[in-house]
Amino acid sequence: MFFYYKISKAREKKGIKEMKKLSVIIPMYNEKEVAKICYERMKNVVDTLENYDYELIFINDGSSDNTQDILEEIASFDNKVKIISFSRNFGHQAAVTAGIRNVTGDAVLIIDADLQDPPELLPEMIDLLEQGYEVIYGKRKLRKGESPFKLLTAKMFYKTLNALSDVEIPKDTGDFRLVDRKVIDVINTLPEHNKFLRGLFSWVGFKQTPIYYERQARKAGKTKYPLRKMLKLAQDGIISFSTKPLKIVGGLGIITIILSIAILIYSLVSYAFDLNNLTPGWTSIMVAITLFSGVQLLAIWVISEYIARIYDETRKRPEYVIDKKINM
Ligand code: UDP
Ligand code: MG
Repeated sequence: MFFYYKISKAREKKGIKEMKKLSVIIPMYNEKEVAKICYERMKNVVDTLENYDYELIFINDGSSDNTQDILEEIASFDNKVKIISFSRNFGHQAAVTAGIRNVTGDAVLIIDADLQDPPELLPEMIDLLEQGYEVIYGKRKLRKGESPFKLLTAKMFYKTLNALSDVEIPKDTGDFRLVDRKVIDVINTLPEHNKFLRGLFSWVGFKQTPIYYERQARKAGKTKYPLRKMLKLAQDGIISFSTKPLKIVGGLGIITIILSIAILIYSLVSYAFDLNNLTPGWTSIMVAITLFSGVQLLAIWVISEYIARIYDETRKRPEYVIDKKINM
């Protein structure tokens, strides 16, 4: 503390800019292998920042390993480390949401715990912030250590999302970004559940710029995004940013009606001219039944996904439950 006081006093004399504060948000779910390294590497970078004081906010998203103990130990000797622990696993997006609701800084960095996004990029990102950009988002030039399956599905997802969505959501972009407090305050006023944060950050606008980087392989441990969670995120992305699937259902309906008329005409013609030498009517009935029940079930499924979300919003249940907060 005294150290910072001295530096800021010296700066005041030299007429250098006043100290600002950076809040770093790091969500963690079962990250016992990386928790410590993550803290150390982040600390190394933020300690070198000249005009910024900082806080490191770790969100323990209901880990079942000893992530909480590791974090509490760090927080016991470093009061710049703050911990928000959830009562159970609420998911990555909820963890980041809790983080941005509890920041006290002028700028906010959102970063994964596994060091796939290099913290060392921060000084460059802060330069861009000082130049007047309000959102600086990491864009991956190269992704190391990720399976071909993940790369392919990610690519397909962004293609589909951008084809369906009304806002342009940059591809090869995750949640790694440096954001001005002003933008965070806007995001915090959005009441929606099942958030797709990277979409919302595009949606709010403001002056944005990418920063290109090579995405590293995970430092240690395994991915906390199994296929199930990836699909949920993809679905949240599409449903929160597009109503086109509902319209596609309408289109499907029209196509099937046309098809059913064609089948009807075909059956009538075969009946009239006795062309059907199979058991009369069997083929057409089977085709009609299977085709239409399939299309109907598909349509109901898409619609029910939207209804489920309306239901979610009307219940107004919180997105997460905090068990305890430390150093805050
Ligand atoms: N994460 C979380 N809750 C979850 C899943 C993941 O807080 O339910 C965190 C995780 O600890 C990490 C970040 O979200 O800091 C991204 O997860 P991960 O690196 O496993 O995803 P991937 O990079 O494999 O897509
Ligand atoms: Mg990762």
